Amino acid sequence: MGHIRENIDEINRLKDETAIKSGRKAGDVLLCAVTKTRTPEEINEAIDAGITDIGENKVQEIMDKYEHVKPVRWHLIGHLQTNKVKYIIDKVSMIHSVDSLHLAEEIDRRAAQHGITMDILIQVNSAQEESKFGITTEETGSMIRDILEKCEHVRIRGLMCIAPFEDDSNDVRIYFAEVKKLYDEYSKLEHERLDFKYLSMGMSHDFKVAIEEGSNLIRVGTAIFGARDYSKKN
Ligand SMILES: *Cc1c(COP(=O)(O)O)cnc(C)c1O
Repeated sequence: MGHIRENIDEINRLKDETAIKSGRKAGDVLLCAVTKTRTPEEINEAIDAGITDIGENKVQEIMDKYEHVKPVRWHLIGHLQTNKVKYIIDKVSMIHSVDSLHLAEEIDRRAAQHGITMDILIQVNSAQEESKFGITTEETGSMIRDILEKCEHVRIRGLMCIAPFEDDSNDVRIYFAEVKKLYDEYSKLEHERLDFKYLSMGMSHDFKVAIEEGSNLIRVGTAIFGARDYSKKN
């Protein structure tokens, strides 16, 4: 099965080292293990090695694995269709990929039915890549205000960004920095349903740069579990 524990130890070391170098504290950055395509056995091995948070990008995978994985916080990190919110509303602790008022309203409706408040992040596509979901930096303020006004069972906990893939991750620094600027700006908003705590940026190949630019939640799959084999599953 590889070296899941060793990989996690190494990423924890690197993320703490990077945080300290950037003037922050060790432990400031949460490692969310991205478990798409991984088996419950692999995921449980990661949990045994100290992982407390896991991220999936497909609703179906959460449903398939949920009962077979040890207690852990689940994050929905991929694009979410409104008609699937009902399947995960009672399973995930945060949804990173909110990119429309329509989606937030459906999350709100389902959360109300369950008597809970759902934590969400707004996904910002600062590089304006057409292939990626997320709103523009310009739309962020009005999206936040609309959600606060209309969604009483949703709490906005911060922002999320997926940078374009570049061989040299220094090339995406600017996109992380833009989202960090928005994060600092809107974290000052005073509202009972806005409580910024998470800036979700950085994956296997760019998490160090993301932390340097202010990320405090990294989503790492490949660097923990190895390359994904999409032919096996999905
Ligand atoms: C797959 C995925 C990741 C993790 O990517 P790796 O390169 O395997 O670390 C992070 N965030 C999202 C939204 C993903 O879909």
